[in-house]
Amino acid sequence: MSSLSAKYAPSGLATTLTDPELFCQLAHVAGRPLAAASGEDLTVTDPATGDVVGTIPALSAEESSAAIDQADAAFAQWSGLLPQERSTILRRWYDLIMDAREDLAQIMTAEQGKPISESRGEIAYAASFVEFFAEEAKRPNIESVTSHLPDAEVEIWREPAGVAALITPWNFPAAMITRKAAAALAAGCTCLVHPSSETPFSATALAVLATRAGIPAGAFNVVTGKAPTIVEPWTADARVRVLSFTGSTEIGKLLYRQSAGTVKRLVMELGGHAPFIVFADADLDQAVEEAVKAKFATSGQDCLGANRFFIDRRIYESFAERFAEAAAALSVGPGSTDPDIGPLMNEKAVAKQVSHVEDALAKGAKCLTGGRVDENGPLFFQPTILTDVPADALIMNEETFGPVAALCPFDSEEEAIARANATEYGLIAYLHTMDPRRIYRASRQLQFGMVAVNRTKVTGAPIPFGGYKQSGMGREGARLGMEEFTEVKYVCRDWA
Ligand code: NAP
Repeated sequence: MSSLSAKYAPSGLATTLTDPELFCQLAHVAGRPLAAASGEDLTVTDPATGDVVGTIPALSAEESSAAIDQADAAFAQWSGLLPQERSTILRRWYDLIMDAREDLAQIMTAEQGKPISESRGEIAYAASFVEFFAEEAKRPNIESVTSHLPDAEVEIWREPAGVAALITPWNFPAAMITRKAAAALAAGCTCLVHPSSETPFSATALAVLATRAGIPAGAFNVVTGKAPTIVEPWTADARVRVLSFTGSTEIGKLLYRQSAGTVKRLVMELGGHAPFIVFADADLDQAVEEAVKAKFATSGQDCLGANRFFIDRRIYESFAERFAEAAAALSVGPGSTDPDIGPLMNEKAVAKQVSHVEDALAKGAKCLTGGRVDENGPLFFQPTILTDVPADALIMNEETFGPVAALCPFDSEEEAIARANATEYGLIAYLHTMDPRRIYRASRQLQFGMVAVNRTKVTGAPIPFGGYKQSGMGREGARLGMEEFTEVKYVCRDWA
C-alpha cells in the first residue's frame, strides 16, 4: 500500500463515521489529497485522552509555494464564473456540510475536545457562513454614484482581490475557516488555508466536501504543516493579495510585519479579554445565567470569553455567590460524553490557568470554587471563580483562555467603563443593566467592536464580527466580510 492510500484506509476515527472519507489525513491542494514529499507528518492527539487521532503531512516551504501556483492558476477560472454560478456551488457546499453535520462534529470533538453538542452547534454555525455568502455572491455590490464632472459618467466596481491566505486557530476548527473562505470564494478569490496543526481534520473534511460540491481544483486548498514553514512563503509572495488571520495578538503582529514587504490587505481577528459589567439594576438571574455562558462556553477557550467581571458593589456578594454556585454545578469530562466543560487544548493552556489563579491568590484574591486541575485528566481544569481580584493581577491584564473568572466590585458607572476600557483589547464587552439611558451611554463609551446588552449570544453570519484596538482590523461576516476580499475600482467615462 502506498503512503497515500495508507492514509486513506479507514482506521480509528474513520471507522466510527457514516462517511469514512471525511476523516482525511492528507493536505488538499489543487483538488487532490497531498502527502509531504519528505514523508514527514505531524501527530494530532485527542486532548481528552492523549490518544493519537491521526497524522497530517508536514509540507515543506516549496510545497507551500507550489500551492500558491495552484491558487493563482485557479483564480482566472473561479473569478470568471458568473456570480450566480459561484453562488450555486457554495450553496451545494453548504448542503453537503449540513448533511455531514454529525460526522464533522465527531471529527471536531476527537481533535479539539469540545463537548459534542458544541461541536454540532459549531458545524451549523460554520455552515451558516457558507449559506450567507452563497447569497451575497449574487450581489457584487456595484455602487452607483452621480457624476461630479460634466459630460462624464462614473462607476465604482468591486473586483475580487486575488489569492487569499487564510490562517485559522484551533478553538473553532470549522467556523473560523468558513467565515473567511466562504466570503473570499463568494467575492471570486481563491484560497490557501492553513488550519491549526492541532485541529487540521475539520479543515481537510471541509476540503473533501468542497471538491464534491464542485469548487474547482485550486480554488480551496488546505495546506498543512508547521505554521512558519507554510505561512512565510505566503506573506513573502506578492501574488497573495489578502491575508486573513484569526489567532493570538502576538502572531497577528508577526504576520502584520511579515506582510509589509508585499503590502497585503490584512484582516486580523485577534485576542479578546472581554469585560462583563453588571449594574445593580440588572436582572440578577439573567446576569448569572449569561455570565455562565460568557465564561464557560467552549470551555473558556473563546475569543469572546468574558475574563474580567466588574460587578456593582451593591450586588457584588450575591452575584459572586450565585455565579460560583452555577459554576460548581457544571459538569467536566471528555467531549464525547457531552459535559458542560471539556479538556483544554494543550499543556500550555492549563499552565496559564494555574499561573493566573496562583498569581491572583498571591495578590489577595479569594477562590470561591475550583482553582485546580480536574480529576478527569491533566488537560481538564475546574470551573473557577475568583473574587476581589486586584487590577494588577495577571488575569486582569491578559487573556486567560480557559474556565477561570475574575471578579471585582465597582462603585460608579464611570469607574466600570474606565476599567473595562483599560486594556489593549477591544473585541466584545458584555453589559447588564435595565436602564435604557445607561445602555445607550455605556454602549457608546465602551471601546469594543461588539457590545452585548443583557445577553451573550450575539454572533451570526449577518453581523460584522471584529474588534477595536489590538483585537484586530477588518470585519468578518456581513457584507463587510466579503468586501475585505475585494478591490475597489473607479471608472470615469467621458461621453461628450
Ligand atoms: P495562535 O497560536 O496565534 O495560532 C493561530 C494560527 O496561527 C494557527 O493556524 C497557527 O498554526 C498559526 N501560527 C502559529 N505560529 C505562527 C507563525 N509563526 N507564523 C504563521 N502562523 C503561525 O492562536 P491559537 O492559540 O491557535 O488561538 C487562540 C487565539 O486566537 C486567542 O488569542 C483567541 O482570542 C484568538 N481568537 C480570536 C478570534 C477572533 O475572531 N477575534 C476567534 C478565535 C480565536 P499552528 O497551530 O500550526 O501553530
